[in-house]
Amino acid sequence: MRDELPADEVESGNGGLSRKPRSGMNTIRVRKGYRLNLAGAPSEEVKALEPPATLAALPERVPFVKPKLSVAEGDSVKVGSLLYVDKRNPDLKFCSPAGGVVKDIQYGPRRVIEQIVIERDEVEVFETFPSVDPDALSHIDRAELAALLRDGGLWPLIRELPIRDIAGPDRKPPAVVVSLDRQEHFHPSARVYLEGRLDLLRYGLAVMHRLAGEAPVIVGAYPQTADRFSGFVTHRVAGPYPADDPGSLLYRIKTSSAQNNAWFVSGQDLLLIAHLLKTGTYPTERTVVVAGSAAQDRRHFRTRLGAPLAHLAGGDSADGSSRFIVGGVFTGYSGSPGSHLGLYETSVTVVPKGEASEFLSLFRPGWAKPTYSRLFLSRFNPGPLVHDCNRKGGVRACIACMHCADVCPVDILPQMTYKAILAEEVEESLEHGLLDCVECGLCSYVCPAKIELTETLKQAKAAYAREKGA
Ligand code: SF4
Ligand code: SF4
Repeated sequence: MRDELPADEVESGNGGLSRKPRSGMNTIRVRKGYRLNLAGAPSEEVKALEPPATLAALPERVPFVKPKLSVAEGDSVKVGSLLYVDKRNPDLKFCSPAGGVVKDIQYGPRRVIEQIVIERDEVEVFETFPSVDPDALSHIDRAELAALLRDGGLWPLIRELPIRDIAGPDRKPPAVVVSLDRQEHFHPSARVYLEGRLDLLRYGLAVMHRLAGEAPVIVGAYPQTADRFSGFVTHRVAGPYPADDPGSLLYRIKTSSAQNNAWFVSGQDLLLIAHLLKTGTYPTERTVVVAGSAAQDRRHFRTRLGAPLAHLAGGDSADGSSRFIVGGVFTGYSGSPGSHLGLYETSVTVVPKGEASEFLSLFRPGWAKPTYSRLFLSRFNPGPLVHDCNRKGGVRACIACMHCADVCPVDILPQMTYKAILAEEVEESLEHGLLDCVECGLCSYVCPAKIELTETLKQAKAAYAREKGA
């Protein structure tokens, strides 16, 4: 794994993982990555939605967790009541985003719990949790603070690099990275979700400093956000997707491999944590973006945690010609209209399904056809382009084009790492930088041979972690 600072990518003033920047805000310029010119950008206008009839928790969408239910269908729950725990560590609790009745517990293949659907009462009752006065944050016992977050069901919002599993509450992190901008295309703007909520951001950062102890709390943001909230941001990150990903940021500022296990949390999740601890009630508000070329109303919505996708963009899939991508076009998943938002998701991108096949596709000029390899005339088309779900071909053998290495933000050679994984050469894959992979999805997107590089690397990382007992 890479241990040294790439000096050409970091402006002077960078304090590395020192507790404070040496001179104001640090600036990091990232050259590698890729910015997709995607049609259907959302406006920053916000529409507040009425609370939906149902809300849900989606255990299936919390990576690594093995859920054990604490409720059954027909049970009454309050907002913040315990729904399930993680069998690996029953102290990791997940709470109800609604007050009402457990209407449906839906299972998928192999009895995986997909959704716990709550039918909302007209007047919802809230569980009460202990609150922490802002002045007490600087000296509250760290273990007590972590226990409050675990009992309130929000500890899972803090995750640990490089595997991105839920952070171990008893460990002390080498750093905590807070990403104010979610790096994927079409995610809520920090300028929108932070509007009028800077007190909560301040409080949330104080919580992170207390949990981090002596370790630094890095607050990263893209230039527009960093300039707007300069009093909070420590690292201004410029560059294409996924420049401000916590793993990508850490890769550029860490000074030793001992810092690989930094924790990270998104800006909006930090507000949820702050709300819980400051008020003693489980937070319910989520700012969500609905966008994409097939979305009719592209904007920010103020809604509830666990809201139904149909409530956000129901009409957009009515004729079956479009598809919902939940959580970002590179890293998200396909969601059905009957599903709900998971704990971490804050975006729904609606894209056309696409034609099953295009006759003589390669021989058309392709003025509006998105392509990384610049095979089509669209390389001269500056406008946003419509992407659909058509993969346009099946998996083929690697043609050694190096596109995957060109875009990889952490300088991995994805094709070499992939081959090492297939050959079960664990050491070799680690030498290629497997653990630095930030799971951005770019290598899979640009690969003309349609090789599932990202998923393979992601699974190999998880398998390595399991073996190491991490
Ligand atoms: S290997 Fe692929 S998924 Fe991993 S960081 Fe590089 S481009 Fe992203
Ligand atoms: S992008 Fe795909 S085809 Fe090209 S080198 Fe990488 S793995 Fe091989």
